[in-house]
Amino acid sequence: MTQTVDLLVIGTGAAGAAPAYRARRAGWTVAIVDKRPYGGTCALRGCDPKKVLVGAADLLDWYRRMQGRGVAGERVHVDWPALIRFKRTFTEPVPQDREQGYHHAGVATFHGLARFVDAQTIRVGE
Ligand SMILES: Cc1cc2nc3c(=O)[nH]c(=O)nc-3n(C[C@H](O)[C@H](O)[C@H](O)COP(=O)(O)OP(=O)(O)OC[C@H]3O[C@@H](n4cnc5c(N)ncnc54)[C@H](O)[C@@H]3O)c2cc1C
Repeated sequence: MTQTVDLLVIGTGAAGAAPAYRARRAGWTVAIVDKRPYGGTCALRGCDPKKVLVGAADLLDWYRRMQGRGVAGERVHVDWPALIRFKRTFTEPVPQDREQGYHHAGVATFHGLARFVDAQTIRVGE
């Protein structure tokens, strides 16, 4: 299948989402492609999950440092399986939510590795 668009965005992270929506709002035909689940590093593997994981480690670190200095209580620990389950509650819905957002906006979505065939042509997957 060959499709011609005004703009093909490679990558569904923050850097790809903004121009895709902006160009679509301006009336361009737009497609977006990702070789990994939609959402990019920040939402799936970076900023957001990092904040929660680092937050739990910080909490534990501060608890240990402040023990006997005005902080007391039962032994605090990280429940790793529970923490990861919590992380997944906000990372797992991302790919589907993002793809639906593009569909609603009229942005065509593709999955696979994007490669330039020539200056005007990009092949997705095989
Ligand atoms: C652990 C960690 C924590 C972070 N914490 C923060 C933070 O707290 N604050 C902050 O501002 N930034 C943070 N960052 C940085 C932030 O995640 C990145 O700056 C941001 O995600 C970059 O966005 P992007 O859209 O350029 O790239 P990405 O979000 O990485 O998206 C690129 C997408 O393009 C796809 N892609 C690439 N090449 C192709 C191809 N040829 N074909 C198809 N798809 C392709 C990839 O699969 C990927 O999904 C963190 C990063 C990491 C790793």
